[in-house]
Amino acid sequence: MAKTTEAQILLALEEITIPTKNNDGGKNIVALGMISGIAIKDRMVQFSIEIDPEKADEMEDIRKKAEQCVNNIDGVLSATAILTAEAKESYNRQQAVSGKKSKKPDSSKINGAANIKYMVAIASGKGGVGKSTISVNIALSLKLMGLKVGLLDADVFGPSMPRMTGVSGKPQSIDGNSLEPLENYGIKIMSMGFMVAEDQPVVWRGPMVMGALQQMLNDVNWGELDILIIDMPPGTGDAQLTISQNAPLNGAVIVSTPQDIALIDAKKGLNMFLKVNVPVLGIIENMSYFLCPQCGHQSDIFGHGGARAEAKKLDCKFLGEIPLHMDIRTTSDNGNPIVISQPNNQHSLIYNDIADKIWNDLN
Ligand code: ADP
Repeated sequence: MAKTTEAQILLALEEITIPTKNNDGGKNIVALGMISGIAIKDRMVQFSIEIDPEKADEMEDIRKKAEQCVNNIDGVLSATAILTAEAKESYNRQQAVSGKKSKKPDSSKINGAANIKYMVAIASGKGGVGKSTISVNIALSLKLMGLKVGLLDADVFGPSMPRMTGVSGKPQSIDGNSLEPLENYGIKIMSMGFMVAEDQPVVWRGPMVMGALQQMLNDVNWGELDILIIDMPPGTGDAQLTISQNAPLNGAVIVSTPQDIALIDAKKGLNMFLKVNVPVLGIIENMSYFLCPQCGHQSDIFGHGGARAEAKKLDCKFLGEIPLHMDIRTTSDNGNPIVISQPNNQHSLIYNDIADKIWNDLN
């Protein structure tokens, strides 16, 4: 079967019109420049419809119709449309046919994030190394130090903060322009997971990831914060690079497991930040050694110490090693991060110590 193209999708979407003030039968949503971030993968299509946030309720009908229209295209398995608040990069069909790219998203304006003192990214070369667990425990350790803290889950591919912080629900807008972050344990939290249902396929691509991040940064009423911890998407590809270039980061922390392969990925992460002049505050070794919950015996199942050695070689600070322990997994996966639920636990003290080093380094 022939591949579905952007032009086909836009053609289908031209069927959907919105009434204009002139009562002339309306204009279609493609001509109005409302479509952005079309992603086509494995016969699944995802796109955004840029809307005035004040009209979100009435636009839900348009969203459903748009999804249906694209679903009806021969060869499309599923279509997902998301309403987003701000036009960053919209398409017209002429561009799609000619293959000409529209212009780069404007990243210059910061508003909701204007009163954030420091922004620190927690990154890893690959997924599953414990980046989100570390982000949430570090954010909460900073909070326990008496700081005003925000946590931005920029892992738009697999947002885990709703689960790890135990918060859910849709962020509300008081002024119709910006979104209020959700809160738990005294920190402000924003995640794509609050906006998109967990079972919805998230087939993002560059501009869409960027648009989502920009909104979660600028269109969220973060208020005054001492520090915003950004849980980055895993990897060192384009999306991660764009985020590091566009968010005014004060530093980055690289998370790695001790295995060689994860270290190679961490090295790529380090180079990526260096390339965009974001200082790397240090490397953390997660799942550094296995601590038996029964007898407390330590086993170096992944070859403990690799990240420390690598940090030395790369002339980069080593921030600490966190063991692989059941309590860390159960507490973070249940929305009760260990630094809050068991503040005097030996693992919590390690997170506290790392948070302390990060804060001291920034100040
Ligand atoms: P990433 O953000 O890198 O994809 P996560 O933080 O989601 O990784 O962690 C992946 C899984 O590993 C989660 O179930 C988490 O609870 C668990 N985990 C992370 N760090 C540890 C640790 N030190 N000990 C035990 N389990 C951990």
